[in-house]
Amino acid sequence: MTIVLWDIDGTLIRSGGAGKIAMESALRSTFGIREINDSVPYSGRTDVAIVRDLLLAHDLPTTDENRMLLREAYLQELPGCLKSAGGEILPGIPSLVENFHRNDNVLQGLLTGNVLRGARTKLEHFALWDFFGPGGFGDRQTDRNEVAREALEAVESHLGREANRAKIWVIGDTPHDVTCARAIGANVLAVATGWHPIAELEACRADHVLHDLSDTERVRTLLGIG
Ligand SMILES: [Mg+2]
Repeated sequence: MTIVLWDIDGTLIRSGGAGKIAMESALRSTFGIREINDSVPYSGRTDVAIVRDLLLAHDLPTTDENRMLLREAYLQELPGCLKSAGGEILPGIPSLVENFHRNDNVLQGLLTGNVLRGARTKLEHFALWDFFGPGGFGDRQTDRNEVAREALEAVESHLGREANRAKIWVIGDTPHDVTCARAIGANVLAVATGWHPIAELEACRADHVLHDLSDTERVRTLLGIG
């Protein structure tokens, strides 16, 4: 059994900035912020960490209530932002996720910084949600390595046994994806379809780095999936 854990943004899809637009719109509508402080990084980070840092960057108290209000407003804004932002499914993805979904020797899940409802909204927008089983999400953990542990736990509880780490592949587009794969002893295929150039991903010592996943046969060979 090979386990494939997918990142979402920059790996399966590009949302055209919908996530960031929705978060900023939520800051405006919920807290009356006029000038958005653009210093908070989003790439490869968990939503709970982004929400905390956005509150701090706008001098708002990081209370549980404020975190919840911002997250809920973000989730309300997201579907509309996805429609207007003009995102796309990345090359090779429809064929790969369908192929892995059909293959009884592959368990395909998610390892993403998105909160579960955000992940679902994004993937339903692109008609991809039904292809994925267990996953780890950015609802609770500020540290992506913890999300990887959550994904591994979800996979093992789905399987009812310990997973063979040598047969786990994380696919992602940022240095954080590489680091969190290593935190659970998994292999990692990095892909330069997000914001990070191929040289930066190679410097993180991913097992393989590709420009994109359009050569689906090569991807399957690299992952040892026939
Ligand atoms: Mg990503």
